[in-house]
Amino acid sequence: MLHYSFEDMRQIDRSTLGNTVPLELFRTIRLIGLNQGLPLGGKGTTLTIGRKIGESLPVSSIEDLLHIFEELKIGIPRIVHSDERRINIAVEDCFCKGLPSLEEEKMVCDLEGAILEGAIGRILGRKVSVKEIKCNVTGHDHCEYEVKL
Ligand SMILES: [Zn+2]
Repeated sequence: MLHYSFEDMRQIDRSTLGNTVPLELFRTIRLIGLNQGLPLGGKGTTLTIGRKIGESLPVSSIEDLLHIFEELKIGIPRIVHSDERRINIAVEDCFCKGLPSLEEEKMVCDLEGAILEGAIGRILGRKVSVKEIKCNVTGHDHCEYEVKL
């Protein structure tokens, strides 16, 4: 079976509407389609999708990854802590910024964390786990991921 690569995704020839779609469409796919449309909030599925996306990104270092994360307008990431066991990545301007909060404890950026997990796992050549520990939607002033190495 033939597969699309991330490089294929960059081949865009859309003369009138160009290479972007509105953020509300992305949010609708993420939150209404995946999160509300799948059983259990789409948890396992979203993780699988995110990891696969992360593994497909053409990056060979964490620096490359942070760069492409911003280029794809997922958010503006910065490393706020790094030691031999974990890396914390804060993300400003995440897609969720401005959304109303529904439940006090419910963070919504699981796909984005899974993208980081897939990409970092591939860069380091071993499994890592990523958890969202702060989210705009739960009242924090940015989203933040903890990467366990
Ligand atoms: Zn978030």
